[in-house]
Amino acid sequence: MIEVSHLTKRYGGHTAVSDLSFTIEKGRIYGFLGPNGAGKSTTMNIITGCLGATEGEVRIDGHDIFEEPMAAKRKIGYLPELPPLYTEMTTEEYLRFVLQAKGVRRSEWGSQLRGVMEKTKLFDVSGRLISSLSKGYRQRVGIAQALLGNPEVIILDEPTVGLDPAQIIEIREMIRALGREHTVVLSSHILSEVQAVCDHIMIIAHGKLVASDTAENLTNLLSSGMTVELEAKGSEDETRAVLDGLDGVAGAAYAPGEEGTTRVTLTPAEGVDPREAIFQRFATSDVPLIELRKDKATLEDVFLELTQGEQDAAAAEAKEEAKGA
Ligand code: ADP
Ligand code: MG
Repeated sequence: MIEVSHLTKRYGGHTAVSDLSFTIEKGRIYGFLGPNGAGKSTTMNIITGCLGATEGEVRIDGHDIFEEPMAAKRKIGYLPELPPLYTEMTTEEYLRFVLQAKGVRRSEWGSQLRGVMEKTKLFDVSGRLISSLSKGYRQRVGIAQALLGNPEVIILDEPTVGLDPAQIIEIREMIRALGREHTVVLSSHILSEVQAVCDHIMIIAHGKLVASDTAENLTNLLSSGMTVELEAKGSEDETRAVLDGLDGVAGAAYAPGEEGTTRVTLTPAEGVDPREAIFQRFATSDVPLIELRKDKATLEDVFLELTQGEQDAAAAEAKEEAKGA
């Protein structure tokens, strides 16, 4: 549906987006995850034809966004970071204005308005001035304008930023529902958000794509970070004696637990799950094992690991710049 190849955007000497390539397939919800300044908005502005690129190509359903902007843009509905709302209009006046601007046939206005206002639950405020609406309602008006013209792809830049928790839940549910009829791309700097809403996650850091996969696969990617946590009802010396010489363990850290217990974090050797052997050791000792579990890496770990190198590089760069100044 969307093909981005070797996209680069430079602002003066600063590279905001660097050789970005990815494909968006029909019918799924994609999340663009990255810290502030990663290049999410820049990328979305280019894909939607709002900003030129320095290098690279963007095709929307086969149409080049720079060479056939009209045909390409018709396929896309966009909610930018700062939606272009005319606050002196009422909700309905504004949506009619957008229908006209998008060149939707007048005979379709009524049904489109009804359909979109139903999806975004705007009927209650159709006659209200946008300036009088809460941030949550304004965001719904922003999503409604993106939906007008019934584009196949909906692109939403940080759609829940600045909303309160109840409004965030509402907007997320709305996005999931939109995903049933449209291809959706949203950006966020909040990991739990893309995890909650998206089928496919693209992690972007310093203008580069550092990972692109399902949430599940991204978590598995970090399987080498697996640890085994256990707690035993004994002193550290007693616990050490039980685990002494156990095969398949690369490292162990001991710490006092509550009320005379000892907690141990074991790092298994690569590809080894030592839990059964640990269980057997304790079963034949006088020290009771009261907890044993494998700690799987979370998507948070993956995100931090993947963006860490990039952040270190940026910090070093900033230091150099400060020195030079
Ligand atoms: P994100 O949306 O992920 O927070 P942006 O795409 O807004 O990131 O910005 C990416 C980088 O490009 C940032 O370092 C930002 O400062 C820079 N940038 C964005 N817009 C401009 C601009 N108009 N002029 C110069 N630099 C810009
Ligand atoms: Mg942004």
